[in-house]
Amino acid sequence: MSENGHKKLEIPGSISVRDLAQRMEASPINVIKILMSNGVIASINQVIDFDAAAIVASDLGYEAIPETIPEAEGQETGEIPLWRRMIAGEADAELKSRPPVVTILGHVDHGKTSLLDAIRQANVAAGEAGGITQHIGAYQIEHKNRIITFLDTPGHAAFTAMRARGAQGADIVVLVVAADDGVMPQTKEAIAHAKAARVPIIVALNKMDKANANPDRVKQQLAEQELVPDDWGGNIMVIPVSARQKMGVDDLLEAILLVADNTDIRANPNGKVVGTVVEGELDKAKGVIATLLVQNGTLKAGDTVVVGNSHGRLRAMFDYRGKLVKKAGPSMPVSVMGLNEVPPVGELFQVVESEREARAIVAARQEAKQRQANIQKKASLEELFAKYQAGETKELRLILKADVQGSLEPVVNELNNLGKGEIAINVLYAETGNIGENDVMLASASKAIVLGFNVQADVNARRLAEAEGISIRLYDIIYRLTEDIEKALKGMLEPETVTKTLGRANILAVFNISKGKIAGCRVIEGEVRRNSKIRIWRGEDLLFEGELASLKHEKDDVREVRQGFECGMGFKNFHDFEVGDQVECYVLEKTG
Ligand code: GDP
Repeated sequence: MSENGHKKLEIPGSISVRDLAQRMEASPINVIKILMSNGVIASINQVIDFDAAAIVASDLGYEAIPETIPEAEGQETGEIPLWRRMIAGEADAELKSRPPVVTILGHVDHGKTSLLDAIRQANVAAGEAGGITQHIGAYQIEHKNRIITFLDTPGHAAFTAMRARGAQGADIVVLVVAADDGVMPQTKEAIAHAKAARVPIIVALNKMDKANANPDRVKQQLAEQELVPDDWGGNIMVIPVSARQKMGVDDLLEAILLVADNTDIRANPNGKVVGTVVEGELDKAKGVIATLLVQNGTLKAGDTVVVGNSHGRLRAMFDYRGKLVKKAGPSMPVSVMGLNEVPPVGELFQVVESEREARAIVAARQEAKQRQANIQKKASLEELFAKYQAGETKELRLILKADVQGSLEPVVNELNNLGKGEIAINVLYAETGNIGENDVMLASASKAIVLGFNVQADVNARRLAEAEGISIRLYDIIYRLTEDIEKALKGMLEPETVTKTLGRANILAVFNISKGKIAGCRVIEGEVRRNSKIRIWRGEDLLFEGELASLKHEKDDVREVRQGFECGMGFKNFHDFEVGDQVECYVLEKTG
């Protein structure tokens, strides 16, 4: 009880009206009324901020206090590198330098796998190399008596997954660019990721053995991406290598150590044990096997570990060579047995005293997840602006996709001009093409907004955006786009409408009628409503966006049809559908 006799109630930074009502065992209508009398018009599913929730709580006899989020959940990294947060509680005197953890990113086929292999073969002592029986997702090499850890999961997937969960597995990014091919879309994506995560980049200019290698052209392209090579007066090391001929590998390792020396890479080997899941799988014979990267403290065989909803006592621990080890200090990857479920890549693990404590943590987490389930995570413009005002965000991060190169440049220029005021605008990534899943992943990991200019978002991107609460805004007039951003910067943006999918139906048959065509459908998910809006998809292509002209179940006109049932649908002004197309039913909801 607090001084004023009010019961204390933990409330997160944002909460839906429904959830708030539940927590206070109050009627949602009552909550809506109190909000109204305080000038906030909100629906039951609307997410309100802590301050608004606190007013309601106080009206109903509670004292609102900010909800404490379990530390190891690892959300909201903000601008602070993860390892810094991991060692936040450690005394400076206890911190020791640890091996750098390096990840290799780059465009497909530019040689990431080949380079990882070349490094491993050249630097793992001969006797040991033969002993590598299984791949564990990370390995360590020795160069000049110093150890370097490589995350052996090339491609963006692992790095992005870690970032999306608020973890940061790597201290240094080696960006592989093929000297004959140059900067490609995934190169740019990798640059955007590394920059957003504030991880230093070293460029490995690969395939230098090829006759058509053109290092100067690549350097020019890198400079255009604001990675100015050091021999051009910038601060990015560009190391020519050939993974195939094992050339330049030592130079690359040298560069890694140099960058590591200039970056404060430390941890307390005797401190609190934390780290990140690099890989996890279920082996039929051995059970759950996970690769963990220790980032602080020393993990020991026999320790009890909690990670996400998974927990267990570590029965056995192996290093990357498959050798049984008893302990693993900072930056060491180990493969472990003993967890009860496969933990997700990128999740943070921690060591606890007992199985009982582990189970209690998992139970509390599941409960918290349940409670949070209704709360939409949002990266809407309004929300970002609110965060800016609260001092949590210093910049508005944008990902821009446009139809052609010719329209990218003017839009980026306009945006950069707008960002000269109080809030910086950071265009993390600007590229031509439709909005895809990768763009949404990048947005989710970087807390950015996706803007489309004369492009569409494909179906997977929309689904992911919905699940992750990422805002995708599509425009066909530059003026509208810049106007919206300008308004957002001034905090004057109209409430945004987001689409909420109600259901999906597959078209199983097409019937000709006198007035056109009817699609014979089965609802496979959710429900379809007569008065909702619809989109028709063919695979990932959006064919039509509009409204239903009719909805029938058997012979009757109906208002809605639920999952599992068949129905006939007619569309207003659209008849070019085929068997196999999918109808998505959605409504527009105002947020904010
Ligand atoms: P990843 O998709 O980035 O992992 O690329 P890979 O390592 O699979 O390499 C793609 C292709 O490029 C393969 O056929 C490699 O043999 C080839 N390759 C990789 N590195 C080199 C190199 O240094 N020189 C040449 N000529 N080919 C290379």
